[in-house]
Amino acid sequence: MPNPNKVQEKVFQSPSKYIQGPSAIKNAARYLSKMGKSPLLIVDNFVYGLAGKALIDALESHDIHVTHGKFGGEASAEEVSGLTRLGKESKVDFIIALGGGKTIDTAKATADALSIDVAVLPTMASTDAPCSALSVLYRPSGEFDRYAFFNKNPALVMVDTSIVIKAPARYLAAGIGDALATNVEARRCMNSLNFGGGQPTNVSAAICQKCEEILFKYGKMAYESNKAGAITPAFEAVVEANTLLSGLGFESGGLAAAHAIHDGFTAIHEVHSLMHGEKVNFGTICQLLLDNTPLEEVDRYLTLMRSVDLPITFAQLGAPNVTEEQLRKVAELACRPEETIWNLDIVINEDVVYNVLKAADAVGRDFMRRTEAKSP
Ligand SMILES: [Zn+2]
Repeated sequence: MPNPNKVQEKVFQSPSKYIQGPSAIKNAARYLSKMGKSPLLIVDNFVYGLAGKALIDALESHDIHVTHGKFGGEASAEEVSGLTRLGKESKVDFIIALGGGKTIDTAKATADALSIDVAVLPTMASTDAPCSALSVLYRPSGEFDRYAFFNKNPALVMVDTSIVIKAPARYLAAGIGDALATNVEARRCMNSLNFGGGQPTNVSAAICQKCEEILFKYGKMAYESNKAGAITPAFEAVVEANTLLSGLGFESGGLAAAHAIHDGFTAIHEVHSLMHGEKVNFGTICQLLLDNTPLEEVDRYLTLMRSVDLPITFAQLGAPNVTEEQLRKVAELACRPEETIWNLDIVINEDVVYNVLKAADAVGRDFMRRTEAKSP
């Protein structure tokens, strides 16, 4: 039921400040010094070597005393409580998240537990996690646990594109997969409640459309630029689409089937190594089929997806031998009462989802056959 309590207010929410550019970390103190004097920096060991040390040096030289909080790898309740304890003991006055989606989600939950602000510094453009006031928490095993909602969005989001360009292009592609779902889902949520608890505004619809437009225009070029290690206007545009536009768009626009199906896929062992946006991408194909989208239009999306090597079949997801039992499980999880699939105004049940999963794979395989036959 899209809007069970008949809420009439429209709600739009976002971070207070967004900064993006190739020397953002070097200039971090200029922006972060306004937030406090003793932050807790949450970063994993790999990113610490890549950018964490440089960030600490840049901040310490401006009299900002950094407590180093090591992120263990999973955005779980256990990880959040350990970092919350460290933050309390060290009397930190704000949180800095430096890393990928799971680091960011953990840091947002830690900041909420401590009732302090968080600055989010993504080191890759692989998800729409940075800007929103919610986290996706997982069990230590990697299975989806729940959405956690916070009172505040991050106070600041800062993307250093000279760091993001160093991540493998597959991460950018995963971000494109996540961002491509944004408009496909939000346009079906215009009469539903968004993550702010209100109806979507016109500005969120415009952001979702712009996000999709940028991906179709520049996604492929940005992917190739990333492979070459070259920061280009196309790369900057897609980083912004993946991070800012997709983030604002999904939070204030709403999610539907693509993300619910992603959440279902987290229960299948074979696809655990895949990134969030890669699983969401398959969910987007399912959503397009649920929307009864004509073939020509579905092909337009599939063409973009394959141009950046996103998975469109079970085999490409790493599960060529997926069983009926596994697909029934995905459908069951996608249809949990708290899932976003209920934002759709069509009849949804586990059988409908099970069928669309099989159909999406068939459409993907057919697309591969047709396009492979055409290529020399
Ligand atoms: Zn997402």
